[in-house]
Amino acid sequence: MSTNVEQIKERLNIVDVISSYLKIEKAGINYKARCPFHNEKTPSFFISPQRQSFYCFGCGEKGDIFSFVEKFENVDFKEAMKILAERAGIELKGFRKEENKDEKEELLKVMEVATKFYEEALVENKNALQYLKNRGLLPDSISKWRIGFAKEGWRNLYDFLTEKGFSQKTMLEAGLLKKTEGKMGSEDERYYDTFRNRIMFPIFDNNGKVIAFSGRAMREDEKNPKYLNSPETKLFYKSETLYGFHIAKNYIRKNDYTVLVEGQMDLLMSHQVGTLNTVASSGTALTELHLKKLQKLSNRIIIAYDSDEAGESAARRAAELALSLGMEVKTTFLPKNEDPDSIIRKNPSEWKEILKNSEYFLDALLSKALQKYKDRALTKEITNNILPLVSLIKNEIEKSHFIKKIALKMRVTEDTILKQLEKIKTDTARVNSNEENQNQKDQKEELLFEIERYGLKIDVEQENAEILKRDEIKELKKKHQEIAITLDDKDITQEDRKNLENDLKNIEKRLKEINN
Ligand SMILES: [Zn+2]
Repeated sequence: MSTNVEQIKERLNIVDVISSYLKIEKAGINYKARCPFHNEKTPSFFISPQRQSFYCFGCGEKGDIFSFVEKFENVDFKEAMKILAERAGIELKGFRKEENKDEKEELLKVMEVATKFYEEALVENKNALQYLKNRGLLPDSISKWRIGFAKEGWRNLYDFLTEKGFSQKTMLEAGLLKKTEGKMGSEDERYYDTFRNRIMFPIFDNNGKVIAFSGRAMREDEKNPKYLNSPETKLFYKSETLYGFHIAKNYIRKNDYTVLVEGQMDLLMSHQVGTLNTVASSGTALTELHLKKLQKLSNRIIIAYDSDEAGESAARRAAELALSLGMEVKTTFLPKNEDPDSIIRKNPSEWKEILKNSEYFLDALLSKALQKYKDRALTKEITNNILPLVSLIKNEIEKSHFIKKIALKMRVTEDTILKQLEKIKTDTARVNSNEENQNQKDQKEELLFEIERYGLKIDVEQENAEILKRDEIKELKKKHQEIAITLDDKDITQEDRKNLENDLKNIEKRLKEINN
Protein backbone atom coordinates (compact mmCIF):
# COMPACT_ATOMS: atom_id res chain seq x y z
CA MET A 1 0.00 0.00 0.00
CA SER A 2 1.47 3.29 -1.03
CA THR A 3 1.54 6.32 1.22
CA ASN A 4 -0.47 9.49 0.73
CA VAL A 5 2.60 11.26 -0.59
CA GLU A 6 3.40 8.52 -3.09
CA GLN A 7 -0.17 8.37 -4.29
CA ILE A 8 -0.31 12.11 -4.82
CA LYS A 9 3.01 12.08 -6.63
CA GLU A 10 1.78 9.30 -8.90
CA ARG A 11 -1.29 11.24 -9.90
CA LEU A 12 0.05 14.75 -10.25
CA ASN A 13 2.62 16.09 -12.64
CA ILE A 14 4.75 18.92 -11.31
CA VAL A 15 4.44 20.78 -14.61
CA ASP A 16 0.64 20.88 -14.32
CA VAL A 17 0.74 21.86 -10.68
CA ILE A 18 3.20 24.71 -11.13
CA SER A 19 1.62 25.93 -14.36
CA SER A 20 -1.61 26.47 -12.48
CA TYR A 21 0.27 29.00 -10.38
CA LEU A 22 2.81 30.45 -12.80
CA LYS A 23 3.15 31.26 -16.44
CA ILE A 24 5.65 28.70 -17.67
CA GLU A 25 7.41 28.16 -20.97
CA LYS A 26 9.23 25.29 -22.54
CA ALA A 27 13.01 25.26 -22.28
CA GLY A 28 14.38 22.17 -23.94
CA ILE A 29 13.11 19.18 -22.06
CA ASN A 30 12.46 21.42 -19.07
CA TYR A 31 10.16 24.30 -18.39
CA LYS A 32 11.10 27.68 -17.05
CA ALA A 33 9.29 30.54 -15.37
CA ARG A 34 10.00 33.74 -13.53
CA CYS A 35 10.72 32.65 -9.99
CA PRO A 36 7.85 33.30 -7.58
CA PHE A 37 10.23 33.27 -4.63
CA HIS A 38 12.53 36.08 -5.62
CA ASN A 39 12.36 39.12 -7.84
CA GLU A 40 13.51 38.68 -11.37
CA LYS A 41 12.90 39.80 -14.89
CA THR A 42 14.32 36.84 -16.78
CA PRO A 43 13.30 33.31 -15.83
CA SER A 44 15.77 31.30 -13.81
CA PHE A 45 13.21 29.02 -12.24
CA PHE A 46 13.37 25.59 -13.89
CA ILE A 47 10.94 22.71 -13.70
CA SER A 48 12.11 19.25 -14.61
CA PRO A 49 9.30 16.88 -15.60
CA GLN A 50 11.74 13.97 -15.49
CA ARG A 51 12.84 14.55 -11.97
CA GLN A 52 9.47 16.01 -10.95
CA SER A 53 11.28 18.82 -9.23
CA PHE A 54 11.98 22.51 -9.53
CA TYR A 55 15.11 24.52 -9.03
CA CYS A 56 15.77 28.25 -9.08
CA PHE A 57 19.22 29.33 -10.19
CA GLY A 58 18.55 32.79 -8.85
CA CYS A 59 17.69 32.11 -5.24
CA GLY A 60 18.44 28.42 -4.86
CA GLU A 61 14.87 27.49 -3.95
CA LYS A 62 14.21 23.87 -4.88
CA GLY A 63 11.96 20.93 -4.22
CA ASP A 64 8.97 18.91 -5.35
CA ILE A 65 5.24 19.65 -5.65
CA PHE A 66 4.82 19.60 -1.89
CA SER A 67 7.51 22.10 -1.13
CA PHE A 68 6.31 24.27 -4.00
CA VAL A 69 2.75 24.45 -2.67
CA GLU A 70 3.98 24.92 0.88
CA LYS A 71 6.08 27.86 -0.11
CA PHE A 72 3.74 29.39 -2.66
CA GLU A 73 0.55 29.13 -0.62
CA ASN A 74 2.40 29.85 2.56
CA VAL A 75 1.09 26.75 4.31
CA ASP A 76 2.63 23.89 6.25
CA PHE A 77 3.31 20.44 4.84
CA LYS A 78 0.02 18.98 6.00
CA GLU A 79 -1.94 21.77 4.42
CA ALA A 80 0.02 21.42 1.17
CA MET A 81 -0.75 17.72 1.21
CA LYS A 82 -4.42 18.46 1.66
CA ILE A 83 -4.46 20.92 -1.23
CA LEU A 84 -2.68 18.47 -3.52
CA ALA A 85 -4.76 15.51 -2.39
CA GLU A 86 -7.90 17.40 -3.28
CA ARG A 87 -6.41 18.21 -6.66
CA ALA A 88 -5.47 14.61 -7.25
CA GLY A 89 -8.86 13.40 -6.08
CA ILE A 90 -7.33 11.32 -3.32
CA GLU A 91 -8.85 10.68 0.05
CA LEU A 92 -6.15 11.09 2.66
CA LYS A 93 -5.59 8.07 4.86
CA GLY A 94 -4.96 8.34 8.58
CA PHE A 95 -4.89 12.08 8.35
CA ARG A 96 -5.72 13.41 11.76
CA LYS A 97 -7.24 16.86 11.73
CA GLU A 98 -5.97 19.54 14.01
CA GLU A 99 -8.28 21.08 16.57
CA ASN A 100 -8.07 24.49 15.05
CA LYS A 101 -8.77 23.12 11.61
CA ASP A 102 -12.12 21.83 12.80
CA GLU A 103 -12.83 25.25 14.16
CA LYS A 104 -11.93 26.90 10.87
CA GLU A 105 -14.06 24.48 8.96
CA GLU A 106 -17.01 25.25 11.22
CA LEU A 107 -16.46 28.96 10.62
CA LEU A 108 -16.35 28.45 6.85
CA LYS A 109 -19.54 26.43 7.13
CA VAL A 110 -21.41 29.13 9.01
CA MET A 111 -20.23 31.76 6.53
CA GLU A 112 -21.49 29.66 3.64
CA VAL A 113 -24.90 29.19 5.26
CA ALA A 114 -25.10 32.91 6.04
CA THR A 115 -24.17 33.77 2.45
CA LYS A 116 -27.00 31.63 1.13
CA PHE A 117 -29.37 33.18 3.65
CA TYR A 118 -28.46 36.68 2.45
CA GLU A 119 -28.61 35.68 -1.20
CA GLU A 120 -32.15 34.40 -0.79
CA ALA A 121 -33.20 37.52 1.05
CA LEU A 122 -31.99 39.70 -1.80
CA VAL A 123 -34.28 38.02 -4.30
CA GLU A 124 -37.26 39.13 -2.20
CA ASN A 125 -36.08 42.67 -1.69
CA LYS A 126 -37.14 44.95 -4.53
CA ASN A 127 -35.44 48.04 -3.07
CA ALA A 128 -32.08 46.42 -2.79
CA LEU A 129 -32.37 44.88 -6.26
CA GLN A 130 -33.35 48.23 -7.69
CA TYR A 131 -30.41 49.85 -5.96
CA LEU A 132 -27.97 47.34 -7.49
CA LYS A 133 -29.59 47.77 -10.89
CA ASN A 134 -29.22 51.54 -10.64
CA ARG A 135 -25.59 51.04 -9.81
CA GLY A 136 -25.26 49.21 -13.11
CA LEU A 137 -24.82 45.69 -11.84
CA LEU A 138 -26.24 42.93 -14.03
CA PRO A 139 -27.98 39.86 -12.56
CA ASP A 140 -25.05 37.71 -13.69
CA SER A 141 -22.65 39.77 -11.63
CA ILE A 142 -24.94 39.65 -8.63
CA SER A 143 -25.00 35.87 -8.66
CA LYS A 144 -21.34 35.50 -9.57
CA TRP A 145 -20.26 37.62 -6.62
CA ARG A 146 -23.00 36.15 -4.43
CA ILE A 147 -24.35 39.52 -3.38
CA GLY A 148 -27.11 39.33 -0.80
CA PHE A 149 -29.21 41.30 1.61
CA ALA A 150 -29.41 41.48 5.40
CA LYS A 151 -32.95 42.37 6.33
CA GLU A 152 -34.00 44.93 8.89
CA GLY A 153 -34.34 43.39 12.35
CA TRP A 154 -32.05 42.36 15.18
CA ARG A 155 -31.96 38.61 15.04
CA ASN A 156 -32.93 37.33 11.60
CA LEU A 157 -29.64 35.60 10.93
CA TYR A 158 -29.17 34.60 14.54
CA ASP A 159 -32.48 32.76 14.65
CA PHE A 160 -31.85 31.12 11.30
CA LEU A 161 -28.36 29.91 12.19
CA THR A 162 -29.48 28.73 15.62
CA GLU A 163 -32.13 26.65 13.94
CA LYS A 164 -29.45 25.21 11.68
CA GLY A 165 -27.56 24.10 14.76
CA PHE A 166 -24.73 26.64 14.89
CA SER A 167 -23.55 27.76 18.30
CA GLN A 168 -23.43 31.34 19.52
CA LYS A 169 -19.70 30.93 19.89
CA THR A 170 -19.29 30.07 16.21
CA MET A 171 -21.47 32.98 15.12
CA LEU A 172 -19.55 35.39 17.35
CA GLU A 173 -16.22 34.10 16.12
CA ALA A 174 -17.34 34.43 12.53
CA GLY A 175 -18.20 38.06 13.21
CA LEU A 176 -21.83 37.56 12.29
CA LEU A 177 -23.12 38.23 15.77
CA LYS A 178 -22.56 40.85 18.42
CA LYS A 179 -23.32 40.89 22.09
CA THR A 180 -24.43 43.90 24.14
CA GLU A 181 -22.43 44.66 27.24
CA GLY A 182 -25.45 45.77 29.28
CA LYS A 183 -27.49 43.53 31.54
CA MET A 184 -30.78 44.22 29.85
CA GLY A 185 -32.97 41.33 28.82
CA SER A 186 -32.26 37.63 28.93
CA GLU A 187 -28.93 36.12 27.91
CA ASP A 188 -30.47 35.22 24.57
CA GLU A 189 -31.73 38.73 23.92
CA ARG A 190 -28.31 40.26 24.31
CA TYR A 191 -27.11 38.81 21.01
CA TYR A 192 -27.87 40.61 17.78
CA ASP A 193 -26.93 40.42 14.10
CA THR A 194 -23.87 42.39 13.04
CA PHE A 195 -25.40 43.27 9.68
CA ARG A 196 -28.86 44.76 9.43
CA ASN A 197 -30.59 46.47 6.52
CA ARG A 198 -27.53 46.23 4.35
CA ILE A 199 -26.59 44.95 0.95
CA MET A 200 -24.13 42.18 1.60
CA PHE A 201 -20.98 41.72 -0.43
CA PRO A 202 -19.20 38.50 0.52
CA ILE A 203 -15.42 38.63 0.72
CA PHE A 204 -13.71 35.46 -0.48
CA ASP A 205 -10.49 33.67 0.33
CA ASN A 206 -8.04 32.58 -2.37
CA ASN A 207 -10.17 29.55 -3.12
CA GLY A 208 -13.46 31.39 -3.38
CA LYS A 209 -14.79 30.51 0.06
CA VAL A 210 -16.64 33.26 1.92
CA ILE A 211 -14.61 34.49 4.89
CA ALA A 212 -16.17 37.88 5.61
CA PHE A 213 -18.75 40.39 4.49
CA SER A 214 -18.86 44.00 3.57
CA GLY A 215 -22.32 45.42 4.15
CA ARG A 216 -23.49 48.57 2.44
CA ALA A 217 -26.13 50.54 4.31
CA MET A 218 -29.45 51.06 2.56
CA ARG A 219 -30.01 54.05 4.78
CA GLU A 220 -27.10 56.22 5.77
CA ASP A 221 -26.98 58.17 9.01
CA GLU A 222 -24.61 58.76 11.90
CA LYS A 223 -25.39 55.42 13.47
CA ASN A 224 -25.05 53.54 10.22
CA PRO A 225 -21.76 53.89 8.42
CA LYS A 226 -21.99 53.53 4.67
CA TYR A 227 -19.87 50.41 4.69
CA LEU A 228 -19.54 47.97 7.53
CA ASN A 229 -16.94 45.21 7.27
CA SER A 230 -16.66 41.99 9.22
CA PRO A 231 -14.18 42.19 12.07
CA GLU A 232 -10.96 40.23 11.71
CA THR A 233 -11.56 36.58 12.52
CA LYS A 234 -9.66 33.33 12.31
CA LEU A 235 -10.65 33.31 8.65
CA PHE A 236 -10.36 36.94 7.74
CA TYR A 237 -7.09 38.84 7.86
CA LYS A 238 -7.47 42.27 6.38
CA SER A 239 -3.80 42.70 5.63
CA GLU A 240 -3.86 39.63 3.39
CA THR A 241 -7.25 39.77 1.76
CA LEU A 242 -7.85 41.44 -1.56
CA TYR A 243 -11.38 41.65 -2.88
CA GLY A 244 -11.77 39.68 -6.10
CA PHE A 245 -8.44 37.90 -5.82
CA HIS A 246 -9.91 34.40 -6.08
CA ILE A 247 -11.10 35.14 -9.59
CA ALA A 248 -8.50 37.68 -10.66
CA LYS A 249 -5.52 35.51 -9.75
CA ASN A 250 -5.71 33.41 -12.91
CA TYR A 251 -6.12 36.43 -15.15
CA ILE A 252 -3.32 38.38 -13.50
CA ARG A 253 -0.99 35.52 -14.34
CA LYS A 254 -2.37 35.25 -17.84
CA ASN A 255 -2.31 38.97 -18.67
CA ASP A 256 0.85 39.53 -16.68
CA TYR A 257 -0.47 42.57 -14.84
CA THR A 258 -2.87 43.52 -12.08
CA VAL A 259 -5.41 46.31 -12.13
CA LEU A 260 -5.75 47.62 -8.60
CA VAL A 261 -8.87 49.61 -7.72
CA GLU A 262 -10.09 51.00 -4.43
CA GLY A 263 -13.72 50.07 -3.97
CA GLN A 264 -15.90 47.01 -4.28
CA MET A 265 -18.15 48.65 -6.84
CA ASP A 266 -15.09 49.58 -8.91
CA LEU A 267 -14.07 45.97 -8.89
CA LEU A 268 -17.50 44.56 -9.68
CA MET A 269 -17.97 46.90 -12.62
CA SER A 270 -14.46 46.27 -13.91
CA HIS A 271 -15.02 42.51 -13.88
CA GLN A 272 -18.44 42.97 -15.42
CA VAL A 273 -16.90 44.56 -18.49
CA GLY A 274 -14.28 41.85 -18.76
CA THR A 275 -11.25 43.27 -16.98
CA LEU A 276 -10.92 40.11 -14.97
CA ASN A 277 -7.43 40.83 -13.64
CA THR A 278 -8.81 43.49 -11.30
CA VAL A 279 -8.56 43.35 -7.51
CA ALA A 280 -9.68 45.87 -4.91
CA SER A 281 -8.00 46.91 -1.71
CA SER A 282 -11.55 47.65 -0.61
CA GLY A 283 -11.67 49.80 2.45
CA THR A 284 -8.47 48.55 4.06
CA ALA A 285 -5.05 50.06 3.65
CA LEU A 286 -2.96 48.30 1.08
CA THR A 287 -0.11 46.35 2.67
CA GLU A 288 3.13 44.82 1.52
CA LEU A 289 1.51 41.41 2.00
CA HIS A 290 -1.22 42.30 -0.48
CA LEU A 291 1.36 43.33 -3.03
CA LYS A 292 3.58 40.32 -2.48
CA LYS A 293 0.60 38.15 -3.18
CA LEU A 294 0.08 39.93 -6.48
CA GLN A 295 3.77 39.98 -7.29
CA LYS A 296 3.89 36.20 -7.20
CA LEU A 297 1.59 36.26 -10.21
CA SER A 298 2.93 39.27 -12.06
CA ASN A 299 5.45 41.97 -11.40
CA ARG A 300 3.36 44.61 -13.14
CA ILE A 301 0.56 46.64 -11.65
CA ILE A 302 -1.72 49.45 -12.75
CA ILE A 303 -3.04 51.53 -9.88
CA ALA A 304 -6.48 52.87 -10.77
CA TYR A 305 -7.56 54.75 -7.69
CA ASP A 306 -10.14 57.53 -7.44
CA SER A 307 -9.08 60.86 -8.83
CA ASP A 308 -9.81 62.80 -5.65
CA GLU A 309 -7.21 63.90 -3.14
CA ALA A 310 -7.67 60.89 -0.86
CA GLY A 311 -7.38 58.57 -3.83
CA GLU A 312 -4.23 60.26 -5.05
CA SER A 313 -2.45 60.00 -1.75
CA ALA A 314 -3.51 56.38 -1.35
CA ALA A 315 -2.21 55.70 -4.85
CA ARG A 316 1.12 57.25 -3.97
CA ARG A 317 1.45 55.06 -0.91
CA ALA A 318 0.58 51.99 -2.94
CA ALA A 319 3.11 52.99 -5.59
CA GLU A 320 5.83 53.46 -2.98
CA LEU A 321 5.22 50.00 -1.59
CA ALA A 322 5.12 48.42 -5.03
CA LEU A 323 8.27 50.19 -6.24
CA SER A 324 10.16 49.17 -3.14
CA LEU A 325 9.24 45.56 -3.91
CA GLY A 326 10.72 46.03 -7.36
CA MET A 327 7.40 46.05 -9.19
CA GLU A 328 6.67 47.92 -12.39
CA VAL A 329 4.07 50.50 -11.43
CA LYS A 330 1.72 52.31 -13.75
CA THR A 331 -1.21 54.56 -13.03
CA THR A 332 -4.36 55.68 -14.80
CA PHE A 333 -5.65 59.16 -15.45
CA LEU A 334 -9.26 59.34 -14.42
CA PRO A 335 -11.22 62.52 -15.09
CA LYS A 336 -11.54 64.72 -12.00
CA ASN A 337 -13.72 63.26 -9.25
CA GLU A 338 -14.46 60.08 -11.12
CA ASP A 339 -13.77 56.52 -10.11
CA PRO A 340 -13.64 53.35 -12.22
CA ASP A 341 -17.20 52.51 -11.19
CA SER A 342 -18.65 55.80 -12.44
CA ILE A 343 -16.63 55.69 -15.67
CA ILE A 344 -17.62 52.13 -16.53
CA ARG A 345 -21.26 52.84 -15.80
CA LYS A 346 -21.21 55.71 -18.28
CA ASN A 347 -19.02 54.12 -20.90
CA PRO A 348 -17.28 50.74 -20.58
CA SER A 349 -15.01 51.35 -23.55
CA GLU A 350 -13.60 54.46 -21.91
CA TRP A 351 -12.36 52.26 -19.06
CA LYS A 352 -10.40 50.05 -21.44
CA GLU A 353 -9.00 53.13 -23.12
CA ILE A 354 -7.93 54.56 -19.78
CA LEU A 355 -6.14 51.34 -18.88
CA LYS A 356 -4.46 51.25 -22.25
CA ASN A 357 -3.22 54.79 -21.73
CA SER A 358 -1.89 54.18 -18.25
CA GLU A 359 1.57 55.61 -17.69
CA TYR A 360 4.51 54.80 -15.48
CA PHE A 361 3.68 56.19 -12.08
CA LEU A 362 6.81 58.32 -12.03
CA ASP A 363 6.20 59.70 -15.51
CA ALA A 364 2.73 60.69 -14.41
CA LEU A 365 4.06 62.33 -11.29
CA LEU A 366 6.70 64.19 -13.25
CA SER A 367 4.35 65.55 -15.88
CA LYS A 368 1.96 66.66 -13.18
CA ALA A 369 4.75 68.48 -11.37
CA LEU A 370 5.82 70.14 -14.61
CA GLN A 371 2.31 71.37 -15.22
CA LYS A 372 1.87 72.69 -11.73
CA TYR A 373 5.26 74.14 -10.75
CA LYS A 374 8.07 76.25 -12.13
CA ASP A 375 11.65 77.11 -11.21
CA ARG A 376 12.45 76.67 -7.55
CA ALA A 377 9.04 75.32 -6.67
CA LEU A 378 9.54 72.66 -9.32
CA THR A 379 12.98 71.76 -7.99
CA LYS A 380 11.53 71.48 -4.53
CA GLU A 381 8.68 69.29 -5.69
CA ILE A 382 11.01 66.98 -7.58
CA THR A 383 13.49 66.78 -4.72
CA ASN A 384 10.90 66.17 -2.05
CA ASN A 385 8.29 64.10 -3.80
CA ILE A 386 9.69 62.48 -6.89
CA LEU A 387 13.31 61.58 -6.22
CA PRO A 388 12.44 59.56 -3.11
CA LEU A 389 10.33 57.36 -5.39
CA VAL A 390 13.10 57.13 -7.98
CA SER A 391 15.42 55.91 -5.27
CA LEU A 392 13.06 53.02 -4.64
CA ILE A 393 13.36 51.65 -8.17
CA LYS A 394 15.26 48.38 -8.15
CA ASN A 395 15.86 48.02 -11.85
CA GLU A 396 18.97 50.02 -12.76
CA ILE A 397 17.99 50.57 -16.37
CA GLU A 398 14.59 51.86 -15.40
CA LYS A 399 16.17 54.02 -12.74
CA SER A 400 18.67 55.62 -15.06
CA HIS A 401 15.88 56.25 -17.54
CA PHE A 402 14.09 58.38 -14.98
CA ILE A 403 17.26 60.11 -13.87
CA LYS A 404 17.94 61.15 -17.46
CA LYS A 405 14.41 62.34 -17.90
CA ILE A 406 14.34 64.36 -14.71
CA ALA A 407 17.73 65.91 -15.44
CA LEU A 408 16.50 66.95 -18.84
CA LYS A 409 13.32 68.51 -17.50
CA MET A 410 15.10 70.30 -14.69
CA ARG A 411 17.94 71.35 -16.99
CA VAL A 412 20.61 69.99 -14.68
CA THR A 413 23.20 67.29 -15.20
CA GLU A 414 22.50 63.67 -14.38
CA ASP A 415 25.27 63.92 -11.82
CA THR A 416 23.31 66.50 -9.87
CA ILE A 417 20.36 64.16 -9.72
CA LEU A 418 22.57 61.23 -8.73
CA LYS A 419 24.04 63.28 -5.90
CA GLN A 420 20.57 64.14 -4.72
CA LEU A 421 19.65 60.49 -4.81
CA GLU A 422 22.68 59.55 -2.76
CA LYS A 423 21.44 61.87 -0.08
CA ILE A 424 18.17 60.06 0.06
CA LYS A 425 18.57 57.20 2.38
CA THR A 426 17.55 53.93 0.86
CA ASP A 427 17.09 50.55 2.27
CA THR A 428 19.94 48.66 0.74
CA ALA A 429 19.66 45.65 2.95
CA ARG A 430 18.05 43.46 0.37
CA VAL A 431 19.74 44.78 -2.71
CA ASN A 432 22.64 42.40 -2.91
CA SER A 433 21.06 39.36 -1.37
CA ASN A 434 19.79 37.83 -4.59
CA GLU A 435 22.57 38.77 -6.90
CA GLU A 436 24.67 35.92 -8.03
CA ASN A 437 27.61 35.68 -10.27
CA GLN A 438 26.13 35.38 -13.74
CA ASN A 439 28.96 33.21 -14.93
CA GLN A 440 28.46 30.68 -12.19
CA LYS A 441 24.74 30.73 -12.88
CA ASP A 442 25.32 29.88 -16.53
CA GLN A 443 27.66 27.08 -15.58
CA LYS A 444 25.07 25.60 -13.27
CA GLU A 445 22.42 25.82 -15.92
CA GLU A 446 24.67 24.11 -18.43
CA LEU A 447 25.39 21.33 -16.00
CA LEU A 448 21.77 20.69 -15.25
CA PHE A 449 21.04 20.31 -18.91
CA GLU A 450 23.99 18.01 -19.28
CA ILE A 451 22.58 15.90 -16.53
CA GLU A 452 19.20 15.81 -18.22
CA ARG A 453 20.64 14.98 -21.61
CA TYR A 454 22.46 11.92 -20.43
CA GLY A 455 19.67 10.91 -18.12
CA LEU A 456 22.02 10.88 -15.18
CA LYS A 457 20.54 10.91 -11.76
CA ILE A 458 22.64 13.43 -9.95
CA ASP A 459 21.71 15.55 -7.04
CA VAL A 460 21.69 19.21 -7.98
CA GLU A 461 23.14 20.11 -4.60
CA GLN A 462 26.07 17.82 -5.24
CA GLU A 463 26.47 19.38 -8.64
CA ASN A 464 26.68 22.79 -7.06
CA ALA A 465 29.48 21.59 -4.85
CA GLU A 466 31.14 20.29 -8.00
CA ILE A 467 30.93 23.71 -9.60
CA LEU A 468 32.36 25.43 -6.58
CA LYS A 469 35.17 22.90 -6.62
CA ARG A 470 35.95 23.61 -10.26
CA ASP A 471 35.97 27.33 -9.55
CA GLU A 472 38.35 26.85 -6.66
CA ILE A 473 40.69 24.70 -8.72
CA LYS A 474 40.74 27.32 -11.43
CA GLU A 475 41.49 30.00 -8.87
CA LEU A 476 44.25 27.95 -7.21
CA LYS A 477 45.94 27.13 -10.49
CA LYS A 478 45.93 30.77 -11.44
CA LYS A 479 47.59 31.69 -8.17
CA HIS A 480 50.08 28.87 -8.50
CA GLN A 481 51.13 30.18 -11.87
CA GLU A 482 51.44 33.73 -10.57
CA ILE A 483 53.69 32.63 -7.73
CA ALA A 484 55.78 30.50 -10.01
CA ILE A 485 56.36 33.51 -12.24
CA THR A 486 57.28 35.69 -9.28
CA LEU A 487 59.72 33.07 -8.06
CA ASP A 488 61.52 33.23 -11.38
CA ASP A 489 62.50 36.79 -10.55
CA LYS A 490 66.13 36.85 -9.45
CA ASP A 491 65.79 40.03 -7.39
CA ILE A 492 63.40 38.53 -4.88
CA THR A 493 64.52 38.61 -1.22
CA GLN A 494 65.33 35.44 0.60
CA GLU A 495 62.47 35.94 3.02
CA ASP A 496 59.91 36.58 0.27
CA ARG A 497 61.09 33.56 -1.58
CA LYS A 498 60.57 31.44 1.50
CA ASN A 499 57.05 32.75 2.00
CA LEU A 500 56.09 32.26 -1.60
CA GLU A 501 57.42 28.74 -1.66
CA ASN A 502 55.37 28.08 1.41
CA ASP A 503 52.28 29.46 -0.34
CA LEU A 504 53.01 27.25 -3.30
CA LYS A 505 53.18 24.21 -1.09
CA ASN A 506 49.86 25.07 0.50
CA ILE A 507 48.22 25.49 -2.87
CA GLU A 508 49.53 22.16 -4.04
CA LYS A 509 48.28 20.56 -0.85
CA ARG A 510 44.82 22.05 -1.29
CA LEU A 511 44.69 20.95 -4.92
CA LYS A 512 45.51 17.43 -3.88
CA GLU A 513 42.76 17.54 -1.26
CA ILE A 514 40.16 18.71 -3.76
CA ASN A 515 41.07 16.11 -6.32
CA ASN A 516 40.65 13.27 -3.90
ZN1 LIG B 1 14.21 32.21 -7.23
